[in-house]
Amino acid sequence: MTTPKTTTSASAPKKALLVFAHPEQRSLNGALRDVAVRELEAQGYTVKVSDLYAMGWKATVDQADFPQQHTEDRLIPVLASKTGYETGTLTDDVKAEIEKLLWADMVILQFPLWWFGMPAILKGWVDRVFAYGFAYGVGEHSDKRWGDRYGEGMMAGKRAMLIVTAGGWEDHYSARGINGPIDDLLFPITHGTLYYPGFQVLPSFVAYRVDGLDAAGFEALAEKLRMRLRSLDTTAPIPYRQQNAGDYLIPNMKLKPGLGAHGANGFALHLTSADDRLDIGSPDTSKADRLVTVE
Ligand code: FAD
Repeated sequence: MTTPKTTTSASAPKKALLVFAHPEQRSLNGALRDVAVRELEAQGYTVKVSDLYAMGWKATVDQADFPQQHTEDRLIPVLASKTGYETGTLTDDVKAEIEKLLWADMVILQFPLWWFGMPAILKGWVDRVFAYGFAYGVGEHSDKRWGDRYGEGMMAGKRAMLIVTAGGWEDHYSARGINGPIDDLLFPITHGTLYYPGFQVLPSFVAYRVDGLDAAGFEALAEKLRMRLRSLDTTAPIPYRQQNAGDYLIPNMKLKPGLGAHGANGFALHLTSADDRLDIGSPDTSKADRLVTVE
């Protein structure tokens, strides 16, 4: 089993892993990936790219992922993942990706938005690489702590972000847009997949209405991406609430009464808010175990 690495200091070499999910090298995504890699290198990052289609990445979890498991035994993916990670018997492709994640201090997932989510090959990368004991099932699980997750975990101290292209218009993904707000659509990835194992997640870079983009549009988009990548070190992460910082009740893991932006519900509740206050009268709320950062 591999142990997590700590954050690098400002002077240490910077290491970025870009996980790329598009089947065509000559695509817009392929061109933006090249822009991103060049820009990161210009900033002193050493960059590794996991080009999932080019690697022939296996997207599905099945028996073949757990060579230690007898094929006649019933496959229980969670347990097989746990044993595989603990005993170092996960497949070599998965182990190589885990090593890259441990190596990197910045992880970028880049993909076209397909059916409001990531392409299956990238979901399959997460399913297979984010193993039990590595990305979940980490830390003390008791009546005091609900494991090391949501801001803590093996990826703590590392940053991550998404680079996403979408055919739809920006307005369609706005707060009242018909597709739903983009931050909500991406929440299962930014919060559920990246923040969960401990990454600090930077705001997503989303390019809208890209189908039919011309050369001038591409250059403007490429420059916007370069600008975003130039400010990686100074961009504040999305202010998700840490699970174990006192904002949630145990064991139901509900946000404590009195916390949350005025009128907020759903995903927005899990962002720290200037409106946060304590309902002193509530039996569920304790000032002593509450520690909130207000951005
Ligand atoms: P490409 O098709 O490769 O290129 C897009 C345009 O950029 C082309 O016109 C191309 O000529 C141009 N271009 C300009 N400069 C360059 C350059 N230097 N290199 C390459 N191309 C350039 N969209 C949504 O909004 N929501 C969805 O839920 C959604 N679901 C989808 C599901 C599927 C299965 C598919 C296939 C598409 C879906 N889309 C959706 C649209 C999708 O998000 C876009 O088609 C995608 O983001 C475009 O990225 P691309 O890299 O494939 O672009």
